[in-house]
Amino acid sequence: MVIVMKPKATKEDIKGVEDLLRSLNLGVHISSGSERTIIGVIGDKRLLADTPLELMPGVDRLIPIVEPYKLVSRAFKPENTVLNIKGVEIGGKQIAVIAGPCAVESEDQVLSTARFLKSLGVRFLRGGAYKPRTSPYSFQGLEEDGLKILAAAGKETGLITVSEIVSAESLHLAEKYVDMIQIGARNMQNFHLLKEVGRSRIPVILKRGLSATIEEWLNAAEYLMNEGNYNIILCERGIRTFETYTRNTLDLSSIPAVKELSHLPVIADPSHGTGKWKLVTPMSRAAIAAGADGVIVEVHPCPNAAMSDGPQSLNFESFSGLMTEIKSIAGILGREL
Ligand code: PEP
Ligand code: MN
Repeated sequence: MVIVMKPKATKEDIKGVEDLLRSLNLGVHISSGSERTIIGVIGDKRLLADTPLELMPGVDRLIPIVEPYKLVSRAFKPENTVLNIKGVEIGGKQIAVIAGPCAVESEDQVLSTARFLKSLGVRFLRGGAYKPRTSPYSFQGLEEDGLKILAAAGKETGLITVSEIVSAESLHLAEKYVDMIQIGARNMQNFHLLKEVGRSRIPVILKRGLSATIEEWLNAAEYLMNEGNYNIILCERGIRTFETYTRNTLDLSSIPAVKELSHLPVIADPSHGTGKWKLVTPMSRAAIAAGADGVIVEVHPCPNAAMSDGPQSLNFESFSGLMTEIKSIAGILGREL
C-alpha cells in the first residue's frame, strides 16, 4: 500500500505516520517528491485496520498496490528514478552508452577499447571477467585478473566500469575493482544472489532473463530493493522466441511497458538482443526512440578475433557510426548524448 501525503504535509505529519507504521513492524519506504511525499508500506496491511491512519494529519489518501512488486512500481514512486554514478546520471535527460568487449581478454584489448570510447565521449566501460558460457569448454573469463584490468582502464580513462558477477564471491571481489555490476540474464532469478546484491549498495544492471516475463523481471528488481539496494538499472536484452535468425528477440515493447509500470531506468542491449553486429545500430536507434535511457553495446578492436560474442560485436568504425546515429535520435526526443 502507498500513503499519499498532502502537498502541505509537515515533517511532523510524516514522522507521525512513520512512527505508527514502525510500531506495527511494517516496512516503511519514504519517497519525497518535488510536490509531495509518498510512503510505501510493506507488510500485512490488516494490521492497520484499527488505526486512525486515514484521519491522521497530512494524510491525503491510501492506494493499494495491486502488483506483486511494490517498491519497484510507479504507484510507489511516481517520479523517474535518476541514478547518479560518479557524477554521471542514468535515467535523466542524458542517454547512457555503456560499451566495451563481451569479455576482458587482455590489458591491451581493454585499454585500447577504453581509450577509443573515451575519445567519442562515452562514459561507461563494460567487460566481462566472469563469463557464464553455454559450453564449459568455451572461454570462462579471466576472473579477478580481468577485474584488475578493468579497474586499471577505469583509472586511466576516468570511464565508469561495469562487470558481470555470477556468485556472492565474485560480487565481493567486483566491489573492490569496479563501479557497477551486472546480473546476467541467466541469473535473473537466482534469488539468493539477488538478496546478496540487494545487501550491497553497488549500482546494478539487472538483465531480463532469457524467458522471463516483464512481471518476473520486475519481481527480481523487487528482491534487490527489498534488501535496500535502490541503485538499479533494468536492461532488456532479448528473449527466446521461435525465431532463430536472430540470437534472441529484442522485446522493444518492454521498454515503454516497464517505463509505465516502474520508476527505474531502463536500457537495452541490442548486442545480445540480436546476436548480429549489423542489427545493433538499427536496434539501438529503435530502443532510444522507444524511450530507453541508454544502451549497452559490445565493442571489440577486432571482432573476428574475439574470445566471446564476436559476431555481435561492433568494431571501432561501426561503433562510431552508432554514436552519430543515436545522437540524432536523442536530439529529436529532447535528450542528450
Ligand atoms: C553479457 O553482457 O556479456 C552477457 C552475458 O549478457 P546476458 O546475461 O544478457 O546474456
Ligand atoms: Mn556477451
